Amino acid sequence: MQYQGVLSKMRTELGSPIRYYLQLEEDEISMNDLIDQELQLSFQGYQCLNCGKKKKIYRQGHCYDCFYKSPHVGDWVMRPELSKAHLGIEDRNLEFEKEAQLQPHIVYLALSSDVKVGVTRKTQVPTRWIDQGANEALPIVEVPNRYLAGITEVALKEHLSDKTNWRKMLKNEVVEEDLEVIREQIEPYIPEEVKDYYYENEDEVLALDFPVNQYPTKVKSLNLSKTPEYKGKLIGIKGQYFIFEDNTVFNVRGNEGTIISLEV
Ligand SMILES: [Zn+2]
Repeated sequence: MQYQGVLSKMRTELGSPIRYYLQLEEDEISMNDLIDQELQLSFQGYQCLNCGKKKKIYRQGHCYDCFYKSPHVGDWVMRPELSKAHLGIEDRNLEFEKEAQLQPHIVYLALSSDVKVGVTRKTQVPTRWIDQGANEALPIVEVPNRYLAGITEVALKEHLSDKTNWRKMLKNEVVEEDLEVIREQIEPYIPEEVKDYYYENEDEVLALDFPVNQYPTKVKSLNLSKTPEYKGKLIGIKGQYFIFEDNTVFNVRGNEGTIISLEV
């Protein structure tokens, strides 16, 4: 079978193991079914996810122009504490920002390499945790807007990482920590205006089970613009990465906007 299309991140379903679906044009490919098979990936060009033009991708699936114009990738997306829709202040498109920011957000702890703190819209739970390749996750607070989640994350970053070490995540080198214990330890650092939203003990740690037959011992990242053809045996999927038998890994999300062909 041969498929072709523009890459965007895989749709996932929580399960044991998690299920992954890759959309390439009309085809939705069940990636779990391709584990243990030889795949060939070929680079075919770029297509901006926002304007649809065949322009080189700058960041997050967007061409340069769209990255600096589209309301979907304003600075408040990566840095929630910069959110201003709750004050009625526009960044790029106030209507869009109100809809995106003025809705329930979760600040959580995740165990993906070290313990990290992160922010997500409530509707993105557990998708966000799956995409990060977290083995475990635990909500800390649920707040009514993105700004409050952002300032909580900023305060907790003083004590915890907010990054995932993707190499360790893929090698499954994860520290042994009890997230419920850490949630109690960091409670005093939650900002005053957010304290009322702290989850006591009602939520439990969610453990995620990724479809990986064997974790790599070292990882080398496939860059399709430099290696336009790659062939290898898929041995697992974690986060938004394909893991191949020869230690090659491919970041599907990191390659959004790349047109590929996939041969099975
Ligand atoms: Zn564009």
